[in-house]
Amino acid sequence: MANFTPVEEIPKIREELHRTFMSGKMRPISYRKEQLARLAYMIHEHADEFREALTADLGRSALETDFLDLRTTLHEITETYRNVEKWSKPDRPGFDFNWFLMSPSIRKDPKGVVLIMGPFNYPMLLILPPLAGALAAGCTVVIKPSELTVATSGLIAKLIPQYLDPDVCRVVMGGVPESTKLLELPWDHILYTGSGRVAKTVLTAAAKHLTPVTTELGGKNPVVIDPKSDLKLAARRLMWGKYTNCGQTCVAPDYVLLPQEIEEVFIKELLEVHSSFYPEGPKNSESYPRMVTKQHAARMKKLLDETQGKLVIGGEVDLDDRYVAPTILKDIHPDDALMEDEIFGPIMPIITVRNEDEAIELINSKDHALAVTVFSQDAAFRSKIFDNTRSGAAIANEMIIYHGTSGLPFGGVGPSGSGGATTGKYSFDVFTHNRASLVGRGFIDTIILNGRYPPHTAAKSKKLEGASPVSLPSRPVGLAPPHAMAQNNRWGFWFAVASNAVDSKV
Ligand code: NAD
Repeated sequence: MANFTPVEEIPKIREELHRTFMSGKMRPISYRKEQLARLAYMIHEHADEFREALTADLGRSALETDFLDLRTTLHEITETYRNVEKWSKPDRPGFDFNWFLMSPSIRKDPKGVVLIMGPFNYPMLLILPPLAGALAAGCTVVIKPSELTVATSGLIAKLIPQYLDPDVCRVVMGGVPESTKLLELPWDHILYTGSGRVAKTVLTAAAKHLTPVTTELGGKNPVVIDPKSDLKLAARRLMWGKYTNCGQTCVAPDYVLLPQEIEEVFIKELLEVHSSFYPEGPKNSESYPRMVTKQHAARMKKLLDETQGKLVIGGEVDLDDRYVAPTILKDIHPDDALMEDEIFGPIMPIITVRNEDEAIELINSKDHALAVTVFSQDAAFRSKIFDNTRSGAAIANEMIIYHGTSGLPFGGVGPSGSGGATTGKYSFDVFTHNRASLVGRGFIDTIILNGRYPPHTAAKSKKLEGASPVSLPSRPVGLAPPHAMAQNNRWGFWFAVASNAVDSKV
């Protein structure tokens, strides 16, 4: 890409942003809000260019971009704009008689100069709303969009300097060499969204500076179909979730688990949805997107060559067009090539299981996913799957859109992501340090706390103990009585009384 940031300029960019941060320019909430408003207008005024860029990069239809990127991005930025005062106010812990005189509070301090690295699949949604969170928190920010989405990342790099204060936010464009240089530098926080493979490099580099990192990663997202569920609804939502953005969605369904007895009827439903979604065939449909690069399409072809599964529909790949047909395969063995890594493309393997226990066992044999999805109208069935598995989110009868649900954290667990969540207030929190704060007052010593000062006597100890008595919960039923300790405690009590008496005489 012609407009990659020269590697030697990168340390200077961080240095300039560090200076701005230390100058206090981002302290006033009014200034943060001005930047947020500018960011919102940047998107609003260039919506058509973003639509065109996403079509060029990912073959997206305008509707898909509007629904999944533009509206969600604008919604998050405007929600952040409206709430920044509220979120920035210090929190007060609950009332505690022992401490209230010192006015304990939790300051919401900006972390400092932060780095946001984004992936290719939602190159706008996964960069600009987190940027809003960082600006709202009062940080200065470097964003590093994906080098694979040339049009969208290029547009972001062109517009950000026109709308935002360059002392506050800068875009670094580039691939591995530029990212490597960024990661050599000390940051006050890194938000990294991308693959687990690269996350290991990011975390290793961050460890050198003890930089805190939030990772938003991928994984194999299972979908469990309850045989008694509404199969038409399940088929429609599943097909939409899988083939949106050509399967390149971190929360897209990866594989489907269902009992043998409904496989045939469910596949029939899937095929009906397929013809209703793409009546002119997916390749000719403007609603069907493309893989981001020829190499990504070639990876799908390799998976299709290697799988032992039986093709139900799809399977065509046109590398020059970055086209991979919406594909369904059945008779998949849990050791199949499709079950090794995250598929991240439009291939849907169907695996039959005897019952939900076998589904749970298979899910738990993989790394924790970003989302476990269950199609079921039965609350007990849903709970059984959710209670016995782990994932970033537990979703019933829906796909993908929970990312845009106000108030829900978006994030993984363990290998699918850690170190915080994103969207709305959660993004603000990622870039905010909860700074404990107390205002000590001299007169408190005269009431109670002078007991802490040497010389340490039993009388002082008792006084301090009385100031904050510990109230244990009721003794757990199976916990054996502490015979020996009980005696010791009794002796300890009398010893304390005696020494207190001596103490008060001296
Ligand atoms: P990626 O890991 O290849 O790239 C992400 C970022 O890392 C890019 O900015 C890239 O330039 C940079 N990068 C790539 N190689 C690097 C290296 N060796 N050293 C330093 N930086 C490097 O990810 P991708 O292919 O763009 O995105 C797909 C992955 O992201 C999938 O695994 C998907 O599940 C995941 N994802 C997760 C979320 C989430 O919110 N959890 C969202 C979207 C995508």
